[in-house]
Amino acid sequence: MIRLPGLIDPHVHVREPGQTHKEDWDSATQAALAGGVTMILAMPNTKPPIFDHLTLDLAINAARQKARCDYAQFVGAGPDNAAILPDLASKAAGLKMYLDSTFGELRLDDMTLWMPHFQNYPKGYPIVLHSESRTMAAGILFAAIYDRPVHIAHISLKEEILLIKAAKERGIKVTCEVCPHHLFLSKDDIPTISHGHPGRSEVRPRLATKEDIDALWQNLDVIDCFSTDHAPHVIEEKDSDNPPPGFPGLETLLPLLITAADLRRHRTRRVLTLDDIIQKSVINPRKIFNLPEQLETWIEVDENAKYEIRSADQFTRCGWTPFEGWKVKGRVRKVVLRGKTAVEDGKILVEKGYGRNIREP
Ligand SMILES: [Zn+2]
Repeated sequence: MIRLPGLIDPHVHVREPGQTHKEDWDSATQAALAGGVTMILAMPNTKPPIFDHLTLDLAINAARQKARCDYAQFVGAGPDNAAILPDLASKAAGLKMYLDSTFGELRLDDMTLWMPHFQNYPKGYPIVLHSESRTMAAGILFAAIYDRPVHIAHISLKEEILLIKAAKERGIKVTCEVCPHHLFLSKDDIPTISHGHPGRSEVRPRLATKEDIDALWQNLDVIDCFSTDHAPHVIEEKDSDNPPPGFPGLETLLPLLITAADLRRHRTRRVLTLDDIIQKSVINPRKIFNLPEQLETWIEVDENAKYEIRSADQFTRCGWTPFEGWKVKGRVRKVVLRGKTAVEDGKILVEKGYGRNIREP
């Protein structure tokens, strides 16, 4: 049995408010705890999006009643809320900006709409960018111009990891995260994930090539955090004519990483170690997002337990996983959160509302 600190997932789509048939603060935080994650940072593209006082209160009130693990809620950048967001900064996980195409109130059509956010948002709290490929280069240029830290969400491409490496070497304040699905799945896996339902492999950023995956593994030291981008949609939606992009991920994060750590131990090239997992899933996110240490919090993992990933065993409401049938090692046996046993033998033992908003004094 190994003991690790509780993991932090800086990128989770809780789906509440607005789409609680996919997930809510209760089911998302149960999935988190079952996966050994004791703190989640929730994304703002809910319905409505979280982008002002009223909507932030809406999300936080739902979380206060239902969350079982600790959390904070991001606010989203829109075309006309840059003036009010600094007031909310101390209550929010950070500012999320969708620089590539998105819809509705969080859409930022041109770079003049990025500027006031980079100017106004307090530098002590991170700006997180959804920015792919060349858009990411523009985001890094903004970090340099405004001399402030930015964190790039879910990088997946060779060109992205290489550019972030070069930017870091020049002292630009950029950090990044990678999701397990971009480390373990490529375009070649699409037929297996799909099972005749092509919607199941839809995710943004899209699954990349083997060459991209290799570049991520070869530059593991450039990756600051592991995040899941847990983005649950129910199976009927994934199999429909208009499938929404996104994978669940909270419950598969740790076993996939532990299995990789074990496999790669025997290879000569880059090695993933337990220390890497602690660094990228606890220490770095704490630093980047200015998060408090969770006292008396740890997880116990049976490193040698071998099993098959099955959606039937999961707490997420969405009812499926792209890793169905994968043989993995490493089962979370126990989670202790702030002195209380939160998970034991597959059962969630803390009540709704036990989770704490880490941005509340
Ligand atoms: Zn996301």
